[in-house]
Amino acid sequence: MKKSPLSKLVVLTTISVVCFLLGNCVQQLVWTGTTAQLASVPVSAASHQWVNTLQPTFPQVQIRVQPPVTNGTNIDSDLIQQWLGDRSPEVFLTFDDGPSAEATVQILDVLQRHNIKATFFVLGSNVIRLPDVVQRIVAEGHELALHSHTHPNFLTLTREQKEAEIAQSLSLLHWYFPDLRIRWFRPPYGKYDQEVVDIAHDYGMCIAMFNEISTDNTSSAGEIARVVLKSRGKIMVFHDGQWPPLGRLSEPEAQLVAGLNRSVGIAQGQGAKFMTLSDYFGHFCP
Ligand SMILES: [Zn+2]
Repeated sequence: MKKSPLSKLVVLTTISVVCFLLGNCVQQLVWTGTTAQLASVPVSAASHQWVNTLQPTFPQVQIRVQPPVTNGTNIDSDLIQQWLGDRSPEVFLTFDDGPSAEATVQILDVLQRHNIKATFFVLGSNVIRLPDVVQRIVAEGHELALHSHTHPNFLTLTREQKEAEIAQSLSLLHWYFPDLRIRWFRPPYGKYDQEVVDIAHDYGMCIAMFNEISTDNTSSAGEIARVVLKSRGKIMVFHDGQWPPLGRLSEPEAQLVAGLNRSVGIAQGQGAKFMTLSDYFGHFCP
């Protein structure tokens, strides 16, 4: 749709006035073609929430807030809450424990049908078995991220063992994809300490947690669909790998695939924007 110059002018003026009133919110406003981009250091979370309120009024002009560039910020629930709210259209589907020959492939089929991008936190031990599936994840534009090599509880490991888990799996991904940036590490069971943070940073990654953990090991397709339809402003966790591998789709995985298939298209129709973590949070971990 052609962007009306008047709409752009109204948005520009409104943003400028509100940012003046908010004081510290915006140092710089950049128009890039049809996009109004708020580029600022710092852009406050308040201005971001406000843009989410403004956007529906001017659907023909895309307004984006550029998060501040920081040095290795971890995505934790506080950061997510600061930047995203129930009104945020952004939705982040993330999948842990894969890839698997069954669930991951069927999930990729669903995402492909709806042109949705997601983030896959893979295990190195599964990557070795299924490099073709990992290749498909990357080829279809999803984000590849790290979930360790063998899925240990990092709080039970020595520093050397923690580093080995991360280094081994990361070097494996780099071997398959030498040019791919692996930006995020999610420790198994969500358990980590400062040593894990430091090691992840040493290897150029930031910790990426979530604010919506689905009970996809016990949920029906209908329950998963309902969760997805209420997923605005959420980093959601699902699971696409069984260990040891089953060699077939487990019942929870079948429910997950059916639940996603039933809901993502409807969520898109309601305005949800499915993104990879780096699409939105990349600036926090440059
Ligand atoms: Zn896991």
